[in-house]
Amino acid sequence: MERVMRGPYRLSPIAVDMHVPDHVGGVYGLGRDPKRIAVLGRAETELRDKIRSFWSFYEFFWFEPALSDAGGFRIHCREYHKQLECGDLEDRSHPVPHQPGAKCPDCGT
Ligand SMILES: [Zn+2]
Repeated sequence: MERVMRGPYRLSPIAVDMHVPDHVGGVYGLGRDPKRIAVLGRAETELRDKIRSFWSFYEFFWFEPALSDAGGFRIHCREYHKQLECGDLEDRSHPVPHQPGAKCPDCGT
């Protein structure tokens, strides 16, 4: 079964607090159109604060919590390759692992 990020949700501080668990890391997507993720990123901790910081820059967000930074990297890679095929990403550079030597499960980078 393919896992997908939760969303889209309208990006506002209240919506972020309602949906995103506190004190967890994970991966987020941001966009101006509810069907298109324009930006992907990840937070080692405090995913909620990270997404909140984009309020007023983007209108929608998606997210998926990760239990570890390595897990976050795998989700980030999976979403990156998925979004790359749709062609809507503003920044098309590959996710970078926080741990040296970690490899992308999709392309081996
Ligand atoms: Zn890759």
